[in-house]
Amino acid sequence: MRLYDTHVNFHAAQFAEAGLDADGLIDAARASGVRGFLAICDRWDHRDRPLVAAHGRHGVRATVGVHPHHAKDHLGLTKDDLVRHAEANETIAAIGECGLDLHYGYSALDQQLSVFRTHIEAARITGLPLVIHSRNADQVMIDVLQEAWSRGAFRFLLHCYTSGPELARFGLDHGGMISFSGIVTFKAAEAVRAIALQTPADRILVETDCPYLSPVPLRGRMNIPAHIVHVYDALARLRGEAPDSFAARVEDNVRSIFPGLVEAP
Ligand SMILES: [Zn+2]
Repeated sequence: MRLYDTHVNFHAAQFAEAGLDADGLIDAARASGVRGFLAICDRWDHRDRPLVAAHGRHGVRATVGVHPHHAKDHLGLTKDDLVRHAEANETIAAIGECGLDLHYGYSALDQQLSVFRTHIEAARITGLPLVIHSRNADQVMIDVLQEAWSRGAFRFLLHCYTSGPELARFGLDHGGMISFSGIVTFKAAEAVRAIALQTPADRILVETDCPYLSPVPLRGRMNIPAHIVHVYDALARLRGEAPDSFAARVEDNVRSIFPGLVEAP
């Protein structure tokens, strides 16, 4: 089986503190069948980090964007900044991660909205998909996406999905993909599993969001891309699909949204 991790935070301090670098994480994951990785950008001043992870490596691509936690530090970021960076680096495969997080609320809502809208415009201009983070923000997220959509289409995925059925419906109705993490293996995550069960086979993606959210049976440990096998297993079982055919469908979806992750080595 060929597996893909569409959300890897190679930049996270936890990896460095554990003495793990991109080489080690990628080699371990490849030994478990992981073929492609999307290296996520969390801040503008960290924008070179995912590029370094992707540099010279088959099947690794980078994003550029600002996590909603850090919106307050990026009020001057422009769509041109994002567009220029994306166009100057051919390994950039997406804009993000970006979005709204009202669970932690590290940045004020108006700051998050402003920075998120900048990302949406950059996605529309470049044609690159948006990697959207949405936590405890369902209706505001639907409203901002709806309003932006009225000014022109853009591509997106809803990453590490934990929101309700209305946002999932909105996403699917607007051509979006939905990505599930190790949360689908957590006992209490019945509502997330219900959405994973209802997501059409041509719209589902799989991610670790590592170093966070290590799946059962490795919950509590630091998460790494190699652990994605447990997320694939859980999703295939939940959906009643054979593991290899589920993985093949996900690969088709990855090829359509992040073709660089599927390229032959
Ligand atoms: Zn996120």
